[in-house]
Amino acid sequence: MKSNVIAIDGPAASGKSTIASLVAEKLGSYYINTGNMYRAVTLAAIESGVDLTNPGEDVFKKLKKKHRITYVKGVDGKPVLTIDSKQVNLEKIRTHKVSAKVGVPSKSLVVRKWLVAEQRKLTKLGTIVMEGRDIGTNVFPHAKYKFYLTASPEVRAKRRLGQSGEVLETATVESVAKEIALRDEMDSKRDIAPLKKAEDAICIDSSDKTIDQVVNYIVNAVSKK
Ligand code: C5P
Repeated sequence: MKSNVIAIDGPAASGKSTIASLVAEKLGSYYINTGNMYRAVTLAAIESGVDLTNPGEDVFKKLKKKHRITYVKGVDGKPVLTIDSKQVNLEKIRTHKVSAKVGVPSKSLVVRKWLVAEQRKLTKLGTIVMEGRDIGTNVFPHAKYKFYLTASPEVRAKRRLGQSGEVLETATVESVAKEIALRDEMDSKRDIAPLKKAEDAICIDSSDKTIDQVVNYIVNAVSKK
């Protein structure tokens, strides 16, 4: 059976979060950002003093035992990411420090099983727009709608540079492009649930498109099907 999920996957800084949250708003569905869940695990590891250079799975097993990371409905009815029932500070998980390390927990089988199980439970909310790297391929291979969002490396670097907080103050388009390329490589080359377009996903290159154009395209495609 097809799941009531609109899956939006794609590489770093391809505009997934902006697009997915606007699509959810237009469709009156719930928006779930799975990258923030991997970021929350990374922050929890850093705050526990874990050395993320080359950690073994035991480290992540301990973190999983210690913490509960999930989305719950907030006061306005929108899903809110929580760690141990406390709302996650989005600024804290989007720092350069976390971005630079998030690829490490994302490679762990323990972490992926942990978070994917939480992600699958979220269909109980109703129709969800879920964005990430493996939503259409792995989390919901039977999602009703799948989109793969991309943009040229230069456009993505420029967009990321415009988002303060996530990049170092000394960052340039070139240095950000390098970091993005490194994260893409880690995400695409990992053994478990790597970043790739699902065969049945519609690919959208947003390099020369406005946010509205992409949002409307997705909303129309969903409404037509
Ligand atoms: O979407 P965002 O760039 O915030 O994601 C941060 C990181 O989380 C990605 O670079 C990737 O390593 C990991 N991630 C993942 N699977 C997902 C979503 C994010 O591995 N579904």
